[in-house]
Amino acid sequence: MAAKRDYYETLGVPRNATAEELKSAFRRLARQYHPDVNKDPGAEEKFKELNEAYAVLSDDQKRAAYDRYGHAGMDGFGGMPDFTNIDLSDLFGEMFGFPFGGRRTRDRNAPQRGADLQYNLTLDFEEAVFGVDKTIEFTRDEICHHCSGDGAEPGSKKHTCSTCGGAGEVRRARATLLGNMIQVTTCPDCRGTGELYDQACKVCSGRGQERKQVRREVKIPAGVDSGNQVRLNGEGQPGVNGGPQGDLYVALNVRNHKFFHRQDNDILLDLDINIAQATLGAEVEVPTVDGPAMLNVPSGIQPGKVLRMRGKGVPHLRGGGRGDQMVMVNVAIPTKLNAEQRQLFEQLAATMGTEVQPRESGFLDKLKDALGG
Ligand SMILES: [Zn+2]
Ligand SMILES: [Zn+2]
Repeated sequence: MAAKRDYYETLGVPRNATAEELKSAFRRLARQYHPDVNKDPGAEEKFKELNEAYAVLSDDQKRAAYDRYGHAGMDGFGGMPDFTNIDLSDLFGEMFGFPFGGRRTRDRNAPQRGADLQYNLTLDFEEAVFGVDKTIEFTRDEICHHCSGDGAEPGSKKHTCSTCGGAGEVRRARATLLGNMIQVTTCPDCRGTGELYDQACKVCSGRGQERKQVRREVKIPAGVDSGNQVRLNGEGQPGVNGGPQGDLYVALNVRNHKFFHRQDNDILLDLDINIAQATLGAEVEVPTVDGPAMLNVPSGIQPGKVLRMRGKGVPHLRGGGRGDQMVMVNVAIPTKLNAEQRQLFEQLAATMGTEVQPRESGFLDKLKDALGG
């Protein structure tokens, strides 16, 4: 092995340099020689030397040993210095102005919460009204059972990732309309950890996670509507570095009903009654979400009149009773009459005369009402 360069010389600082001077010298040189920005042959080697020198001199204990015994003094520290305490994202974050506000200082060993997942669940109208228990099945990642999330085949050793030099991120300069931009991506080889195992886990191929089909019971409360979601705590993607698991959001979509329309907690129903029922009044059976119920139609009811059936609507999500069923009455004018009915209508017509009556204003107001204005 060739004689190692003096660490102070490598960093170009005097032996009595302060921690601050060491740091700024290291930062300046590291930017210059980082393998992602400097493609010269030898830059990578130089970068490694810088890392090593700084790792030793920035550690008081190691620096003291180095000052007394030189490179030989490093033996007691287990050979190669530990590179992982050098935060290069910090280094480059200051160098390049990231145009999209995307700068984040990330400690790759910090616990990260797992991602949330979404499951789309379609409900029947009645299921949304009264609530329902559903079994859902979805795929998510789980910690690999073989390597416990490590990514390494049990018993395998680690080495620094050579693609990113241990930084966990790679930077590529791209020419854009705004000039050269630096694109930062997670290192594809070590997936941001800065380290590689000599042998990847046989089960998960080093991912640390495996896809699993999961089956869960979801309790859908009464009164939900399209656009609501139910959260299952901790049923999302697993966290990284011991971070908590994400959540699963069950997004609800409610099917249209043949008869019922929903308006918040009220149910709207269009009802056709015949001309005799409208004129004389009647007790009629109408559908409700609770089953058929009797509705009293008063005599002389006009088309468009709304009758309210109290408490036949949708339960309020947070308790406290139910909405109403609103029945919009339409009077169906017969288009086919049998002989007897025709005769009766003719008799009726004779008693009602031939005059027609223009209506006093009010028509526009009614139209506006109908249009909801
Ligand atoms: Zn890497
Ligand atoms: Zn595994």
